[in-house]
Amino acid sequence: MVDQARIDRFKSMTEADPQNELGFMSLGRAYVEGQMYKEAIPVLMRALQLKSGLSPAYVLLAEAQRGVGDPEGAVNTLTRGYRVAHDQGDLMPRNQMADMLKELGSPIPETKQAELTPELVSAGNIQCRRCGRIGPKMKDRPFSGALGEQIHASICGPCFQLWIREGTKVINELRLNLTEASAQEIYDQHMMTFLGLN
Ligand SMILES: [Zn+2]
Repeated sequence: MVDQARIDRFKSMTEADPQNELGFMSLGRAYVEGQMYKEAIPVLMRALQLKSGLSPAYVLLAEAQRGVGDPEGAVNTLTRGYRVAHDQGDLMPRNQMADMLKELGSPIPETKQAELTPELVSAGNIQCRRCGRIGPKMKDRPFSGALGEQIHASICGPCFQLWIREGTKVINELRLNLTEASAQEIYDQHMMTFLGLN
């Protein structure tokens, strides 16, 4: 479904601040969700030009390229994006890109997987959902509620620290007022995506 209000909102954001990579990625996401693939492609390319490490933007760009009937372009984007996501420990976009490469009949670059043994689990370790690395659980829940619980059970400390930095950027760049429910929803959505929890 085309969400014109969201498209307009992010469009004026990118016009006001042409260096705002999250604005471009959000606009690209709104286009992809509205199946406006032709419009999405240049916007997502711009986001990646501004920040080549923006893993979720590769997924969206490949979806748009597939949508306009350019599977070769999609494979190129996914192959590049898979490596970026792997190097940064962005597990969820990495896995999404692996699935898309499979669907397109293309090989997935090979990488090593760490293994969580029962001994490591009983010593209080988790395998982080975001980076795939094995490490100790955080001492406490980062905040109360079910989402805080879920993060405590599945996300490593260093990844949550990365989110705190990224979350501040999300608030500033997308001008979120967290006293509004709609802004809180956008913020939580970014957090879930960043941490690989959705
Ligand atoms: Zn982690």
